[in-house]
Amino acid sequence: MKDRIRSLLTDLMLIPGLSGYEGRVRRYLAEALSDLDITSHTDRLGNLVATIDGTHQGPSVMLFAHMDQLGLVVRKIEANGLVRVERLGGVPERALPSQSVLFCVGPGRDVPGVIANKSHHATSQEEKYRVLPYPQIYIDAGFDSATDVLAAGIDVGTPIVYAPKMVELGGQRIAGTAVDDRAGCAVMIELAHALLGLRRRPRVHLVFSVQEEFNLRGAVTAAQALAPDIAVQLDIILATDTPDMAARGEVRLGGGPAMSLYSFHGRGTLNGTIPHPALVQLFDNAAAREKLPLQRSAHIGALTDSSYVQLVGAGVAAIDLGFPTRYTHSSLEVCDLTDLVGLTRLLLAGIGSIDATFSLDRDEFIS
Ligand SMILES: [Zn+2]
Repeated sequence: MKDRIRSLLTDLMLIPGLSGYEGRVRRYLAEALSDLDITSHTDRLGNLVATIDGTHQGPSVMLFAHMDQLGLVVRKIEANGLVRVERLGGVPERALPSQSVLFCVGPGRDVPGVIANKSHHATSQEEKYRVLPYPQIYIDAGFDSATDVLAAGIDVGTPIVYAPKMVELGGQRIAGTAVDDRAGCAVMIELAHALLGLRRRPRVHLVFSVQEEFNLRGAVTAAQALAPDIAVQLDIILATDTPDMAARGEVRLGGGPAMSLYSFHGRGTLNGTIPHPALVQLFDNAAAREKLPLQRSAHIGALTDSSYVQLVGAGVAAIDLGFPTRYTHSSLEVCDLTDLVGLTRLLLAGIGSIDATFSLDRDEFIS
């Protein structure tokens, strides 16, 4: 299982897919599903949707992971060929200078570029410790004029991502672009494979969603169409076992999968997810039965689509499950393969134990 996940994740991290431009990632995943004899379709927003039929009439489950990644969009092409950009998603400006990037012009036609960093020898003492706001940043793609940039297929609106990379670190760890959330997509494919082998299972919808990094609402159209009873989002959970994160929680990279007990974002979205108690209990019990570690996360500042999906129809019982990740939204994020394997096992055990009697009645969970 570990080798299959490693190979899926590697393939997926090397495919560019800025929010709103997920087509190449979607094509790969549709083929991976088709290899498992699972048919899928794409909704108008771009979500890839597949359904594995259940063996009983219990509550239905929508599992979802987002295909898109954050990045930049061309805002202006200077007469001298340098390119100005707009941010798309939570791009950390601190981590941008001297990164290599890719202008996504089209398969086989993509153009590499470098985000400029002022020559060190000309940097004043005061400038050395200042983060450059993104409007001052420019990208050098090697051209001397706007005409040459346009001739290469780059225009206002062209999507840009961190240059796709995968670096195997010691042990079972992988550093790469868009671990968030290609690792979630890899787990979903591996899980689909495992679910097909279950003798008893609920109806499970697999949704590979779009535009999560843009507005957190891409999965909503899929949830509206599928009307699931339960929704489980698979995504990063912040690892807090580095010195700069220590006060934020107890989530250890390599310490197993994690579930979010509380998320909220007050700036702009005013949304978050407090998971349905039946789902917390379901996955707690599954972890105990399978002797799998299950870490817990509760913090403000990060959100997923589950915040909006839970509000669809008369309400969807929602929870965020994930894998610890370090250095989120940087060009190289780090995850641990053993956590991805653990997450797959946890999901299989939890979802496999949802039967026709599984209750989502809030009145049974008064604390
Ligand atoms: Zn994510």
